[in-house]
Amino acid sequence: MIYLDSNATTRPHPEVVAAILPFLSEFWHNPSSGYRAAKRVRAAIDEARGRVAALIGAEPSEIVFSGCGTEANNMALRWLARWMGADTGHFITSAIEHSAVLRPAEALEADGCGVERCGVDAAGRLDLDAFRSACGAARDAGGGFASVMWANNETGVLQPIAEACEAAKECGLAFHTDAIQAVGKVPVNVRETPVDFLSVSAHKFHGPKGVGALYVRGGTRFEPMIRGGGQEAGRRSGTENVPGIVGMGMAAELMRRQLEADGHAAVRAMRDEFEEALLARIEGTRVNGDRDRRLPGTSHISVEGCEAAGLLILLDEAGIQCSAGSACMTGKQRPSHVQIAMGIPPDRAKSSLRFGFSTFNRPGDVGAAVEALDKAVKKLRSVQGPPGMGPVEVRTL
Ligand code: PLP
Repeated sequence: MIYLDSNATTRPHPEVVAAILPFLSEFWHNPSSGYRAAKRVRAAIDEARGRVAALIGAEPSEIVFSGCGTEANNMALRWLARWMGADTGHFITSAIEHSAVLRPAEALEADGCGVERCGVDAAGRLDLDAFRSACGAARDAGGGFASVMWANNETGVLQPIAEACEAAKECGLAFHTDAIQAVGKVPVNVRETPVDFLSVSAHKFHGPKGVGALYVRGGTRFEPMIRGGGQEAGRRSGTENVPGIVGMGMAAELMRRQLEADGHAAVRAMRDEFEEALLARIEGTRVNGDRDRRLPGTSHISVEGCEAAGLLILLDEAGIQCSAGSACMTGKQRPSHVQIAMGIPPDRAKSSLRFGFSTFNRPGDVGAAVEALDKAVKKLRSVQGPPGMGPVEVRTL
């Protein structure tokens, strides 16, 4: 099997697995207890907090561990809405956010909060003029907050976060970013880009699932969504997921070193070689989104006339694991909201696949994936004719 779906989740690094195991077998004590064994567990959490902080240029005290990335987004947005006045505040976001921002936005809207979803250009980048004017309108209407993702989970396109953050701040709006796809893959530094809140998820950078973190800028007002025993300095109660947190810390440390060493150059090289080979070999393929400002491992392509559902089945049979659109959309036969926002026509959107390379791929994976896709495309086209003849009914195959 060749795994090319690293935007959905990443393979836990062996060093992460090794770091976790002692905290399931030996150091299982409650970190809030007073004896020495428990203090050892507490120290491991502290070390992990420092490592996650170092990955994004934060102070350890600014990191709040959460149950996942989705929870981190909800913690930030729910709090900001409450702070601003849920029924009077204004929330500015983009039309291409993950459902972990879009669904909370709908809930805020139902509570009476004004929500503005700014569009993107054909390359999948936020329309900054629209964003700036929405921030200005929110300021004039009494204030609010904004959230823009750092990198999109379908296309991998990096958003103009520094500019969006500055625009929000100029209008006096608090700024959150869902950096879940970006952290560990590209440099993310909260000192250089002074966001107020930032969400992270461990399983997107070779850590375990079910653990994330919210960065809360020091000095920023913040009240918890989950109340109880007062863990995480009262900002997120609940006995800590110690193995998860330790694994997240190790993954953060490994990614920090890799980013410093070469910025995932090998991953980028494999992705680029894959796209060059595809475009040269398979007629009617194209790469979607801004090709220069992207995550190093993500490739979002369309194959004219071939529905993604059929391609995915054939690729899976050939041992290639990838996705159509985002993982959350797989199985739904409609274009994703991201592709609609980019103005990609429905037929092209339905024929798009997402490949996600990671540090665990090997150069030979590129040729194997291109070969498998070429065969799958030929098979689908043999029953439906050459590109341009319209989509095939994949269930009959
Ligand atoms: N935000 C983005 C951009 C994502 O890609 C994902 C995961 O797919 C999430 C949020 C949700 O993160 P988690 O799976 O940790 O809840």
